[in-house]
Amino acid sequence: MSTLPRTDIHVHSNYSPCGVDVSIEKDVEVAVERGIELIAITDHGTIPKPQWIENYFRDISTLNPPIILLTGIEIDVDVDGELVVERSIRKRFHITIAALHRWPGLVGERLYRWWSDTLRKVINSAEVLVIAHPTDIAWYKIYPPEEYCLEVVDELKSNGVVVEVNYHHRDPSDNFLRLCIERGVKITPTSDAHRLDEIGRLNWHKFKIESLGFRLSDVNWLSIEDILDLANI
Ligand SMILES: [Zn+2]
Ligand SMILES: [Zn+2]
Repeated sequence: MSTLPRTDIHVHSNYSPCGVDVSIEKDVEVAVERGIELIAITDHGTIPKPQWIENYFRDISTLNPPIILLTGIEIDVDVDGELVVERSIRKRFHITIAALHRWPGLVGERLYRWWSDTLRKVINSAEVLVIAHPTDIAWYKIYPPEEYCLEVVDELKSNGVVVEVNYHHRDPSDNFLRLCIERGVKITPTSDAHRLDEIGRLNWHKFKIESLGFRLSDVNWLSIEDILDLANI
């Protein structure tokens, strides 16, 4: 694929407390304006049974958008590598994204060992489709040495789990992303929008890839067909 897929499978709404002016309806409107063809609204799952779920599904069911609109959730991973949202709830969503948001309080080699072990446990669980901002943990940027990155990259590749290139966090770090591209990991451009203005900034994703010396066609992009397939639609 020599252009970016016009998809965004990581967008927040008013059901995320950190959302600014986002809502499901407005997210879709802005996505349409900016030429996005498939969007998933993915609010935070930080406890076993998030309170917002019933209202979220009600809102989604009232819309009839001109683009593909999928359900999704960004699930916190605890420091032991377990997804905090109950399985029966996770199963209700098309798109499941796992995110490290909890800083483990480690430094140096112990931090990198924890990072690799935790991500590999999640990837191996076959319970999520996407890993969110892999080298950004609660706004702490981490730069694991290459051997740790490769452990995670190989696990992603062999399990068919997707990595996002995330506009909101400007993540992954260059080294990790470069290895993902070189090893053919599936990659998807996301906004992780908490503000409407963050949706559809695909020029940034293009710049990020090209600034590492790659062409867009070097990337194993997650296509719309791949997403519909993974989401069982
Ligand atoms: Zn996140
Ligand atoms: Zn997010």
